[in-house]
Amino acid sequence: MTAASASVTFGPDVPDADRVRLAYPLDADVCVIGAGLAGLSVALEAARLGASVVVLEGRHVGWNASGNQLGTVMPGYGLPLADLIARVGLEDAREMWALSQQGAEAVRERATGDGIADLALSDGALEVSNVDVGERLIARLQMLNEDFDTEAEGWQIERVRDALKTRRYFHGVHYPKAFQIDGRNYLMGLAALAKQAGVRIFEDTPALSLDAAGIMKRVVTPAAKLRAQHVVLAGNVHLGSPAQRLSDTLLPVWRYGGITEPLGERLEAIAFQGSVSDSDGVDHFRIVEGDRLMWSSPETTWATQPARFARNITSRIRTVFPQLGKLDVTETFGGAVGQTVHGMPQIGQIRPGLWVASGFGYQGLNTTAMAGVLIARGMIQRDDRSKLFAPFELVWAGGRVGRVVGYGVGVWHRQASALQCTLARYRERAVERERRREARIAAANARAGTG
Ligand SMILES: Cc1cc2nc3c(=O)[nH]c(=O)nc-3n(C[C@H](O)[C@H](O)[C@H](O)COP(=O)(O)OP(=O)(O)OC[C@H]3O[C@@H](n4cnc5c(N)ncnc54)[C@H](O)[C@@H]3O)c2cc1C
Repeated sequence: MTAASASVTFGPDVPDADRVRLAYPLDADVCVIGAGLAGLSVALEAARLGASVVVLEGRHVGWNASGNQLGTVMPGYGLPLADLIARVGLEDAREMWALSQQGAEAVRERATGDGIADLALSDGALEVSNVDVGERLIARLQMLNEDFDTEAEGWQIERVRDALKTRRYFHGVHYPKAFQIDGRNYLMGLAALAKQAGVRIFEDTPALSLDAAGIMKRVVTPAAKLRAQHVVLAGNVHLGSPAQRLSDTLLPVWRYGGITEPLGERLEAIAFQGSVSDSDGVDHFRIVEGDRLMWSSPETTWATQPARFARNITSRIRTVFPQLGKLDVTETFGGAVGQTVHGMPQIGQIRPGLWVASGFGYQGLNTTAMAGVLIARGMIQRDDRSKLFAPFELVWAGGRVGRVVGYGVGVWHRQASALQCTLARYRERAVERERRREARIAAANARAGTG
C-alpha cells in the first residue's frame, strides 16, 4: 500500500505519462464505465468470451475504493443472511450465496491460476462479536454449514481471546476458506489480465454523457465519442452525469485505513494471521508484512484526507489492544464505498444493452468478481442469472442519513402500489440500520476519545 495522495483524491500514484487517454472515435461490443474492481471484472470476463471491450476511467485504475481496500475475501454480501432469506426466500438466497462463494473462488483462481504477482495470499477470516451472543452464533453456524454449504466454525470466548488478546471480543465465527490478498496488487493484476485478454483501458477519460437508446449506445468523453452494443455502468458513487439517477441510488460512505510502523514482538497480542472484523462493523484489521498492522475503522459521509485519520486509527488500535502501547500509523488510505438502501449490490440489465454493476459496499472483492461473470455471460451468452438480483431494485438513497426516501428509477416499470409497499419496507429497514450504525460508530469514537 502506498499512502493516498495529498489532495482529496485516492488511489495509487500512477504517473500521468503512463496513462492512455481516448482521443479518437471508437466502436466496441462492450463499453465499461469505471476501472475499479467491478468494471475490470466485467471487462476481463467479457473479453475472455470474445467481445471487444473498452474501459473508460475518469481518473486512473484503482483511484477510489478498489485501490484502497483491505483485501479480505469472504463469501456472502453486506446484507445479513437472515435478511436475504426474508427478502428472497431460502431457495433463491441459497443460489445467491453460492454465487457469492463462486465470486470468492474466482478471485482465488485469478490469484493462483492466472498468477497475479505479489498477492501475499493467506487463509482464514474471523468475525468476532462485540457482545456475548453465543446462542445467536450457534443458529447462524448451523444455517451456514447445513443450508449454505459454507465451512464455518464457532469459536468460544476463550479461543477468541487466545488468538486476540483483548477482552473486547467474545465469540467468533471462523471461515477457514476465506482469505486475504494485497488488495491493490490484485486490482493492478486484474487490469493487466484484462489488457492481456485484449481490453483497451483509457484513463483520464471520464464518460460525460450517455445516450442509451437504440442498438448502439453512444458515450461522450472529453475528446472523442464511443459507440457500443452494451454499456456497463461500473462507476460506483462517482458515476455522475451519464446516469445521475443511478448515482443517486447510492449512499457514499468514505472509509479510511492505515498501516502501523513495524511492531515487532508487541504483535504477540494477535496470534491470528487472517482478517478480523467485528460484528458492529467498526473495526477490520489484519497483520501485514510480518509485524505491521493494517487497520480500518473511521468513516465519514464526506470526502476528506485519509491522513487526518491516522490518530483516530491509532486510538482504535489502542482501545482494542492497549498492550501495544504507543505506536505510529505510517501510511493511510481511503475510498468511498457505495451503499445501497437495501444492502445488496446492483447487478443486472436495466434496459436492453445497459447494465449496472455497483453498490458493492464493504464486500466488493467476491461480489465484483461474481458480477463480472454474471454480466459478461448475460451480455454474450444470454445467461439470465443476474435476474436473481432483480428484487433488489434501484432505490434513491437520499443525500444523508434519515433522508432515505424510496425512489424508483424510471426504467424499472412497476405497479405503483407494489413499488410503494416495497420501498416503504426498504426505507424502514435502511433508516433503522443507519441509525444503529451511526450509534455504534459514535460510541466507538467516544471510546477512542475522538468523538
Ligand atoms: C478502506 C476500505 C476497505 C475495504 N476493505 C474491503 C475488503 O477487505 N474486502 C472487500 O471485499 N471489500 C472491501 N472494501 C470495499 C471494496 O473496496 C469496494 O466494494 C469495491 O472496491 C467497489 O468497487 P467498484 O469498482 O464498484 O468501485 P470503485 O473502486 O469506486 O471504482 C469505480 C471507478 O469508476 C470511475 N468512474 C466513476 N464515474 C466515471 C465516469 N463517469 N467515467 C469514467 N470513470 C468513472 C471512478 O474513477 C472509479 O475509479 C473496502 C473499501 C474501503 C474503502
